[in-house]
Amino acid sequence: MFPETKKGKEITDIDLVMQQSQQAFEHYKNLAAYKRAAFLVSIADEIEKIREQLVETANKETNLPAARLNGEITRTINQLKLFAQFISEGSWIEAAIDTADAQRTPPRPDIRKMLVPSGPVIVFGASNFPFAFSTAGGDTASALAAGCSVVVKGHSAHAETSSLVFDAIQHAIKNCDMPTHLVQHVLGSGNIAGKALAKHPNAAGVGFTGSFAGGKALCDYSNERENLIPVFAEMSSINPVVFFENALHKKSESLAQMYAASITLGMGQFCTNPGILIALKSETLNLFMQQLSAEINKVIPQKMLHEGICHNYNEAMTEMLQQNGVEVIGHSAQMPAAMEAYPMLAKVTAKTFLSNQKLKEEVFGPFSLMVVCDDADEMKNVLQSLKGQLTTTIMATDEDLNNHKDVIELQKTLAGRIIINGVPTGVEVCAAMVHGGPFPATTDSRFTSVGASSIKRWVRPLCYQGFPDELLPDELKNSNPLNIWRMVNSEWTKENPLDRH
Ligand code: NAP
Repeated sequence: MFPETKKGKEITDIDLVMQQSQQAFEHYKNLAAYKRAAFLVSIADEIEKIREQLVETANKETNLPAARLNGEITRTINQLKLFAQFISEGSWIEAAIDTADAQRTPPRPDIRKMLVPSGPVIVFGASNFPFAFSTAGGDTASALAAGCSVVVKGHSAHAETSSLVFDAIQHAIKNCDMPTHLVQHVLGSGNIAGKALAKHPNAAGVGFTGSFAGGKALCDYSNERENLIPVFAEMSSINPVVFFENALHKKSESLAQMYAASITLGMGQFCTNPGILIALKSETLNLFMQQLSAEINKVIPQKMLHEGICHNYNEAMTEMLQQNGVEVIGHSAQMPAAMEAYPMLAKVTAKTFLSNQKLKEEVFGPFSLMVVCDDADEMKNVLQSLKGQLTTTIMATDEDLNNHKDVIELQKTLAGRIIINGVPTGVEVCAAMVHGGPFPATTDSRFTSVGASSIKRWVRPLCYQGFPDELLPDELKNSNPLNIWRMVNSEWTKENPLDRH
């Protein structure tokens, strides 16, 4: 039993929620892609209608400024539309057809394959993105696009915002005549509702963005289930940035401005925050550190998302600064008030960094640690000592890139996205994006949680062997009524397989 309410309506029974979700899935999974696409666009339109109210409510709940929230709503709307467009084109279902060959020994039967939706998906809203990674965010949009029903576990830190977005989804459900329980909304705290949802036998997958402890717990629940399901958790990352000497020499001042802005953007409450900066010791690096410290000094502390996150930040940052060999080299000139974060920059030698695991942990907030290396080998050791990351960045001139190919090769093994001469914060929603990476950045490095291919988390391949044409789904019928690209006898084509001889 769950006492939490959603506008007076009690969510009392997770079992009922999950049964309803299963029923909605059984209907929705068979709907044509154009109907699902229209539904996604309708959600986007309904969100747009209440934009002002959403910004006002989210601002009160999260302390995030209106400009950021407006930008995030636009991103959420565009994300829904991107998935609508993506599934309308249709080739994403990876249709493959290997026609029968009676002459072969042994004879080959007709074999066809496509991706099909996996079932009800549990989406955990993230505290740091009240829109783009929450109720109608990327996980929900991609799961609905794939043909799955969704149960959202809204984040308590922005429960009212989450309820408003859920209302917008409800309107879209009515507009498009979708099953009433296609998307459901559960609120609650203390892990109770989330655990019951993730462990429910009808759940077919879980999408999560948040703490390492939370993501790991959801994986553990999955392993305790009778039917194992995939858990796609995006958890912790310190996003190492390597600064090469020529790049620093050429433009240390502008790099200092760029990185102070990235470290403190949104008070550091981004999973792509640059948590460690790595460089070779030199006079140029000393100058860069002074300039970066001066920039951090100018940053005014802002309120964090909620008390828990602020408490965690202060604790993790203090613990970091208490480690042997860690030296503060810059901080905001202004002391933080209650619930505000204290922007902070520290440095450590590579030797100390390599000998202390604590220094490799995420500090979720506006904190960054400069790791000073004696030589290129030490720099490689530092990179090799790191666990899986969402991003890794290289600040370099062409000459640097040429001189340090081995360092760059190492970085490719480390993360899901490798950036040259940019900042890791800011994740474009597009077909080519990878927001993922080896554990513990995520629980499954084969997938991304942002961009068109994030839809692949909610499907499974289904093979049809020996089926008569009329019993096949449209995607696999000979006549190709959806006019999609298919792999027919190992060649990409839109043609009818019977016409290809
Ligand atoms: P969180 O504690 O991981 O919680 C996120 C959601 O997961 C909440 O809905 C929570 O439910 C649920 N959850 C967590 N542990 C669970 C468990 N054992 N069983 C079932 N459900 C569980 O994240 P948060 O509240 O956003 O922030 C806490 C810390 O996480 C931050 O201080 C920060 O360090 C880190 N964080 C990291 C990222 C990142 O992108 N790397 C993003 C956000 C936060 P309940 O509400 O019921 O607890």
